[in-house]
Amino acid sequence: MRIDIISAVPDLMTSSFSHSILKRAINNKLVEVNLINLRDYSTNKQKQIDDYAFGGGAGMVLMIEPIAACLNDLKSQRIYDEIIYMSPDGELLTQQLCNQYSLLKNIIILCGHYKGIDERVRQHLITKEISIGDYVLSGGEIPAAVFSDAVIRLLPGVLNDETSALSDSFQDNLLAPPVYTRPAEFNGWKIPEILVSGHTANIDKWRHEQSLERTKLRRPDLLK
Ligand code: SAH
Repeated sequence: MRIDIISAVPDLMTSSFSHSILKRAINNKLVEVNLINLRDYSTNKQKQIDDYAFGGGAGMVLMIEPIAACLNDLKSQRIYDEIIYMSPDGELLTQQLCNQYSLLKNIIILCGHYKGIDERVRQHLITKEISIGDYVLSGGEIPAAVFSDAVIRLLPGVLNDETSALSDSFQDNLLAPPVYTRPAEFNGWKIPEILVSGHTANIDKWRHEQSLERTKLRRPDLLK
């Protein structure tokens, strides 16, 4: 999979891709992530990429020209499955959507900034709009990093244990069961005995019951 992320402040995302699981996925060539500076596509001397909103009001808006130039450049090099704009009014990101996106080959993610982007980009140049939740961030960079992380960890070979992503929350509409590690007792707080019984089938059964119970308690909506 290849993810091209277009941003006015690409540096905001570098650390998310340079550690731990995502770093390993990139190093192992399971995914390619390119952070593209929108300013490189500005046509004027000041490297301007934003301007005041028509009609007045506070806040700058990302201009259509550099965005269109950048998209044209990328699209001339390969075919993209989706061109995604991160936006608080987009479709709410879910694990199910992440599963679907993990099957794509080439995607572009466009990050807005300031007041957002010129609406004509959204009308004519974008194929999908995704929100990471009902709150507003300063830019699309953290949402793009969230989206990429959620999708990349689903790619085959990224997680060490192939089944690991399948036992995470929201797969099968269940929340994950509790996990424990050493020591088996701390401060008098003991781990459930079944986990040291060595009986795999019983442990699996216990985990499933815990998942169900936790989902009923915290997210009954998932069971409907
Ligand atoms: N004026 C816009 C918000 C702009 S926030 C509005 O009220 O809808 C600046 C940028 O941050 C947006 O262009 C978008 O790319 C990104 N952003 C902010 N919140 C987001 C969210 N919840 N999900 C995805 N992207 C978000």
